[in-house]
Amino acid sequence: MGAAGAAGAGPRLLLELRGGRRGALLAVGEPEEGPTCVDISVTPASVQVKTSEGCTELRLPAEVRLDPSSCRGLQFLPGEGLHLRLQAQAAEISAKPTSVFNQNVPAQECCTFYCQSCGEVIIRDRKLLRVLPLPSEDWGALVGEWCCHPDPFANKPLLPQANDCFTGDSFFLVNLKSDSWQPRPELGPAETHSLDAEDHFKLNPKANTKVICKRCKVMLGEMVSSETAKFYMTEIIIQPSESAFSVIPRSQFVQSVIARCLVELSSARSTFRFTIQDPEGKVYILLWLLNSDSLVIDSLRSSRRIQRSIQKFPLLEDQLQADPSSSWNAVKVLYVPCIKSRNEELASSWENDISVHSLTLPSATCLELLLILSRSNSALPSSLRFMNSFQVAYLKV
Ligand SMILES: [Zn+2]
Repeated sequence: MGAAGAAGAGPRLLLELRGGRRGALLAVGEPEEGPTCVDISVTPASVQVKTSEGCTELRLPAEVRLDPSSCRGLQFLPGEGLHLRLQAQAAEISAKPTSVFNQNVPAQECCTFYCQSCGEVIIRDRKLLRVLPLPSEDWGALVGEWCCHPDPFANKPLLPQANDCFTGDSFFLVNLKSDSWQPRPELGPAETHSLDAEDHFKLNPKANTKVICKRCKVMLGEMVSSETAKFYMTEIIIQPSESAFSVIPRSQFVQSVIARCLVELSSARSTFRFTIQDPEGKVYILLWLLNSDSLVIDSLRSSRRIQRSIQKFPLLEDQLQADPSSSWNAVKVLYVPCIKSRNEELASSWENDISVHSLTLPSATCLELLLILSRSNSALPSSLRFMNSFQVAYLKV
């Protein structure tokens, strides 16, 4: 909330609404000089708040309209400001599950896999003829129940051929064999030898088989067989080969990938609770998907303030121009951190609950996500930061 009371500016305004015709919440930050006369005017397309300090105006995107006559539940929270609820009409907003691929890759077209963090080419010009989702982990049990003979697929992992890309919850599997002429992803130092010893993997499935980006040393995934690599969706970006690598700020990319995974999993498996864990099974975050159709409009990101910060920090320009609007679609989540032995009891009850789904990411990305969540949480007015014992956060889509 640092910039909320910037000199000469009015109070901070935060409007949260959801798709369809639903209630919206408007939070008006307390003016810096303390209680004062606040003049709030609501029109279908804007909210304006005037105090003796200044004036803040939120202009709503075209697909959102407020019903000014529906204002109710006006509440003053000392130290925070005013909250009020009103009816809003918003076009259906949802975190549309987009393709795994940053841009749709037409069949037969060559695509290139890049390290998302630094743009290093990981696989060049791969023609993907089949992009198929992997069955869920419990499919083996299902096959066992439905087949009258022993499961023919038992102990035969589904591994991709040269032109296949198999997608899992948070990763894709690709075959690296046909890329032997290319620089391979560098493997972690512990097991470079194990690449040519296939048996080694069978004996030591948990052996250190990390795939590391040569240039920036980020962990991209791991080898699951001598020629199959598992790449995490949060680390790799796949694009048609003829287009240039698109630079997406890391936090924006991580948020949108995780948001998409959560939305897809919750609709496919009717589950809303997730544990975020690293490949060793260590849980970092318990996460509860609350809704996937939030629209948040925040005066902290208004153009006037952005202009001012661009003048001060020219290096920020690119990032801010990439996302100049003050409104964004988001999924709303509740979370608790589990690092440093926090919330151990709750974590173990979630781990033993079959209705909770676990999402595996590299440990550095688990920490990145936790940082993103806590940044989003601390940007909220304090009365909106908690729901029961969970913290509230938004992941931008
Ligand atoms: Zn890299």
